[in-house]
Amino acid sequence: MAFKERVFSGVQSSGNLHLGNYLGALVKFVELQERYDCIYCVVDMHAITVWQDPPELKRSIREVTAAFLACGIDPKKNIIFNQSQVAEHAELAWIFNCVARIGWLNRMTQFKEKAGKDRENASVGLYVYPTLMAADILVYRATHVPVGEDQKQHLELSRDIAQKFNNDFAASITSLGFGDAFFPLPEPLIQGPATRVMSLRDGAKKMSKSDASDYSRINLTDDADTIAQKIRKAKTDPDPLPHEEKGLENRPEADNLVGIYAALADKTKTEVLQEFGGAQFSNFKAALVELAVSRLGPIGAEMKRLVQDPVYIDSVLADGAARAQVLAAETMNAVKDIVGFVRR
Ligand code: ATP
Ligand code: MG
Repeated sequence: MAFKERVFSGVQSSGNLHLGNYLGALVKFVELQERYDCIYCVVDMHAITVWQDPPELKRSIREVTAAFLACGIDPKKNIIFNQSQVAEHAELAWIFNCVARIGWLNRMTQFKEKAGKDRENASVGLYVYPTLMAADILVYRATHVPVGEDQKQHLELSRDIAQKFNNDFAASITSLGFGDAFFPLPEPLIQGPATRVMSLRDGAKKMSKSDASDYSRINLTDDADTIAQKIRKAKTDPDPLPHEEKGLENRPEADNLVGIYAALADKTKTEVLQEFGGAQFSNFKAALVELAVSRLGPIGAEMKRLVQDPVYIDSVLADGAARAQVLAAETMNAVKDIVGFVRR
């Protein structure tokens, strides 16, 4: 069965938005709005899977919204809202908790990383995070999901959940006139030279909002001096840059900086190395600072301007939530019929 093409993606309101979020997600969001109906969500219910200070959470929800707008996502053409305003996400997540298997969730590497050694003390929410993520996507029956590489495993789980739901309830789905599948199997869109931006301090760790060191990441709201300082201090190795992409193998920090440059300049890594092959890091980093400041500076400034106007931000979220809810309620009513619940 053919599903209407629709894009969904989310960003957590869990701290500082950084260059990894920008290159791995936000840049794609902006591109996709030209070709698809897009729904972009500030996933505040995912954020509270680890402790969030309430006033800080509110600030962060508005800041992520400001980032969406500052990057150029049109809130009229697309839907921008925060997850907790559309209760159907949580409702469908419950159904999916009953579809997904414990063994599937036990394989999720993000849970293992985030829970760390003290797994018994992690929230239940952190454990079932992927079923809520599946609900976020499938409550809109979205077909395409732009994300960074780190979300690939969760997307595969979303597909497994969609598939199992379609199989388990096949008879019900057909008899209610939905054909041979109610949910599409959502496709991840993970493309470009910066799908996994690494920490500036450790080329083996991804750049993350929740890293304790601010020097590990470039925040979208960092000023030019801070960006320059962080790039200059970024970990590298002593060799000059290679002339070909193969020369980046086993040089994670060099690979990361070249990937960042390529993504910011809209080039391939090969093209960047044609220009900088043989250069010392000091020269390359100076060029990277200039490029990063010119790309991120205006976005950071616009974010700072927008967060001064929470009334406007909240009105964007309320408008988006109302439009999202119409779609989500339609799916949820159908799901209740499929599952066999009695409705009003
Ligand atoms: P947290 O550490 O709280 O999970 P995060 O930095 O991973 O925060 P998310 O809100 O979980 O941010 O992710 C938002 C989007 O950004 C997702 O599509 C995710 O794949 C992408 N993303 C996150 N980190 C990176 C990264 N280092 N490189 C590329 N994409 C990333
Ligand atoms: Mg994350």
